[in-house]
Amino acid sequence: MTGKRTGRQITIRGIVQGVGFRPKVFSYAQSNHLTGWVRNISSGVEIRISGAPSDIDAFVQALRDTPPPLARIDEFCSEECPAENFIDFQIISSQSEEGEFIPVSPDIALCDDCKRELFDPKDRRYLYPFINCTNCGPRFTIIRDIPYDRPKTTMAGFTMCPACRKEYEDPANRRFHAQPIACPVCGPQLSFEIKDKVVAIKDAALNLARQFLKNGKIVAVKGLGGYLLACDAYNVQAVEELRNRKHRTNKPFALMAADLKTVENHCHVSASERSLLISVQHPIVLLEKKVDCRIPEEIAPGQRTLGFMLPYTPHQELLMLKDEGFPDVLVMTSGNLSEEPIAYEDDDAHLRLDVLADGFFLHDRPIHIRVDDSVVRINRNQSYLVRRSRGYAPNPVLLPVEMGSVLATGTELKNTFCMTRDRYAFLSHHIGDMQNQETLNAFESGIEHFRKLFRIEPEIIACDLHPDYLASNYGRELSCKQNLPLVEVQHHHAHLASCLADNGWDSKEPVIGVIFDGTGYGSDGNIWGGEILIGGYASVERRFHLEYFPLPGGDAAIHHPTRSAIGLLWQNGLEWRTDLPITSFTSDQERSVLQAQLERSLNTPLTSSVGRLFDAASAILGICHEASFEGEPAILLEAVASDTEKGCYDWGMLETSIPTRPLLTAMLKDIQNKVPTPIIASRFHNSIIQLVKDVCTTIEKQTGIRTIVLSGGVWQNMYLLSRILPLLETSGFRVLIHHQVPTNDGGVSLGQAVVAGQKKKE
Ligand SMILES: [Zn+2]
Ligand SMILES: [Zn+2]
Repeated sequence: MTGKRTGRQITIRGIVQGVGFRPKVFSYAQSNHLTGWVRNISSGVEIRISGAPSDIDAFVQALRDTPPPLARIDEFCSEECPAENFIDFQIISSQSEEGEFIPVSPDIALCDDCKRELFDPKDRRYLYPFINCTNCGPRFTIIRDIPYDRPKTTMAGFTMCPACRKEYEDPANRRFHAQPIACPVCGPQLSFEIKDKVVAIKDAALNLARQFLKNGKIVAVKGLGGYLLACDAYNVQAVEELRNRKHRTNKPFALMAADLKTVENHCHVSASERSLLISVQHPIVLLEKKVDCRIPEEIAPGQRTLGFMLPYTPHQELLMLKDEGFPDVLVMTSGNLSEEPIAYEDDDAHLRLDVLADGFFLHDRPIHIRVDDSVVRINRNQSYLVRRSRGYAPNPVLLPVEMGSVLATGTELKNTFCMTRDRYAFLSHHIGDMQNQETLNAFESGIEHFRKLFRIEPEIIACDLHPDYLASNYGRELSCKQNLPLVEVQHHHAHLASCLADNGWDSKEPVIGVIFDGTGYGSDGNIWGGEILIGGYASVERRFHLEYFPLPGGDAAIHHPTRSAIGLLWQNGLEWRTDLPITSFTSDQERSVLQAQLERSLNTPLTSSVGRLFDAASAILGICHEASFEGEPAILLEAVASDTEKGCYDWGMLETSIPTRPLLTAMLKDIQNKVPTPIIASRFHNSIIQLVKDVCTTIEKQTGIRTIVLSGGVWQNMYLLSRILPLLETSGFRVLIHHQVPTNDGGVSLGQAVVAGQKKKE
């Protein structure tokens, strides 16, 4: 060998295992004539190479610029070292280090290569429903422990056949060390059951499932992270039957379409939305309906949008195969009864779903952890998450600074928990509404799993300030039991901190937080939710808030928007008028009972919630009087708002407490003057936008702060978001919104964790 030679020692952290990283390193080393080795270590990947300096530089460049598509490099340490006399380049066996950890890859949708093989009659995995490779397939849902090796996954029970083993051991193969590798000879198989009896297996099971669906039956489909319930989306009778059985009155059903073209037949799909639908995550994407959309109204009553996804596993691909007479759109909703968590264990699924499904389309690969489908929409060509779960969890959020180990238990609705270690915040998959034992169990076992998977021993516990939340009480008890410090974080402070962390904010400069939300326990014991805060991770000051109004029955008002309306009108001394649309669905008796309750202040907690203000407006306008899920009245109000109306109502003088009387008076006047509802709905929205601009401008004049954080469930409202961003930006503000975690309560645990981590540092 001639010329100068040198060596390099490289360690890489991030999502670098289970994503085809070592084969990529191998091929770059070969093409740059380098010798040495690569291996997995508990904290990532370690590489040692020797060769000509220019070749080493080219290798490093290639790896940094073009890592494998599913990898995420968070740390790349490269140190010069003396050249060594390696004979060739090798992938050597893994080295585990005590207590070390590495992020675990989320589950990845079927890749193009595997899809091609799936439909290639000459391929040995032709029509095999569990085809996968290092670029796709199950990950998080099958991992029992780390390091990520087959014996520690739910594939442990399937012994590789010689053909699979050969691929598994060949560094040049796409399936090199693909832990879920399988084929028709050695891997999982399909079955179809009716009433606990297997009636068909393999192809026959698939055909029977399709026949059931074609005939308007409801089928429980075992998927990647749990059971889904499927039926023909065009069959109104089947859809209504599914609603009845699930006790789900109005909440929209998610849809799965055979292909992109089918989605485009029913909805407008922008370039960004298209990329999201076919991304490695394959989430449910909320899309605007076309005028000639043929999906029945019963799928998403009163909504402008539909939630569509494309098949993300090979067996869904086969289930949805286009064929004469088979529906090209299926309902694919979570396999559970109304508010319970999604079923994922076979016995439990049979127990709970027997009454819901006419048949079970199954497979024998166990699911280790339940993961729901993610829900995402596009805002300004970027993902804006509604529910962060399959495909995203457990990808960590990279924190601006190290935090130590915090466990944040999240909140009551749309619960997620969050655990931090070093610079990583592991936000859990969607757990659900913590209002029953099953969800609490899912929460507890999820925390245990994360502790084990990421080797996290919490040093500090963070929870919501609320005195009664199950998640808060879990945190309080754990802190007592293990003698760990507890930080109770105010809900809206957590929202603000969550958005800061989401944006990698590492400054101590205070920001303006416009936190508009449904429900959050305030530090004065009232229900907050219309908060303008100033501050940062460490602390906040409440600068403005919506004027309190009483909520007859407290949180029950979430499901009865008329109560918010009556409380709001009563607070402002506004008369109940018979010309108000709300009158037609509120009986005199109900009203007088609530009226008496208000006058005597019986169970009428005060709220400053913008979410409840939307509920009230929606009820007053006669749009929604019973909410089957939190936020429904606001969603329906947004759906009717006119896109072109520019008018807005006045707020009057802005004090610390923002009065609602001027807004309400003007709105009632519009109703009296028979202004069309879409115009009023639009003016109401515009008023909120104007309010935000006014308060931010006022604060900016007083303090010079020019950075605004928008967080809280209300910011799922795209009418508001799409108009407020340009308005604030043209006024010279920098606006931070969520990107990696939801703006709703699903993102709160991240905020709790960083607030607690910050407190510990001080
Ligand atoms: Zn693949
Ligand atoms: Zn095999």
